[in-house]
Amino acid sequence: MCGIVGYIGNRSCVPVVVEGLKRLEYRGYDSAGIGVVRDSKIEITKIKGKVAELQAAIDKSGIDSTIGIGHTRWATHGEPNEINAHPHANNDNSLVLIHNGIIENYSTLKTGLKKLGYTFKSATDTEVLSNLFDTYLKEGYTLFEAVRRGLNEVEGTYGIAVLSTAEPDRIIAAKKDHHW
Ligand code: GLU
Repeated sequence: MCGIVGYIGNRSCVPVVVEGLKRLEYRGYDSAGIGVVRDSKIEITKIKGKVAELQAAIDKSGIDSTIGIGHTRWATHGEPNEINAHPHANNDNSLVLIHNGIIENYSTLKTGLKKLGYTFKSATDTEVLSNLFDTYLKEGYTLFEAVRRGLNEVEGTYGIAVLSTAEPDRIIAAKKDHHW
């Protein structure tokens, strides 16, 4: 099932993430994307298609940083298109994440988050995670604690990687019942 890559260090994350995604191509996927934090802002470049096309989109967007996460998606919820491709950001674009697996209770979580005023762009199960974690960040929790608390509400399988402008030098990763 698809792939997740993260890089944090002194170099540009882009070649590392793209090379990592290339090595995971054999697993099969329909779209790909990269998310970074640069100058306290989240940047995302994503496409429907292959990693070579992602590289072309990266060349165009100029996305770059020393911290980044990359994803190849095999769609389970929502058709393969650019909007449904990962990463997915929260509403105020301060948090971004990638996810492999399935959030079984996404519909219940989405309904609850909509009642709090959150909106959603994609048809994926994944996007609920970004706004779910946001609720805990807004309560003042650290990124790690926000992700941990959010995941306590989640039923399903996942491998995730999360970036936030609140802690721009950190990647939070978690997995449950997902083998790769
Ligand atoms: N369920 C998620 C989606 O449809 C992730 C699929 C995957 O594992 O790539 O976007």
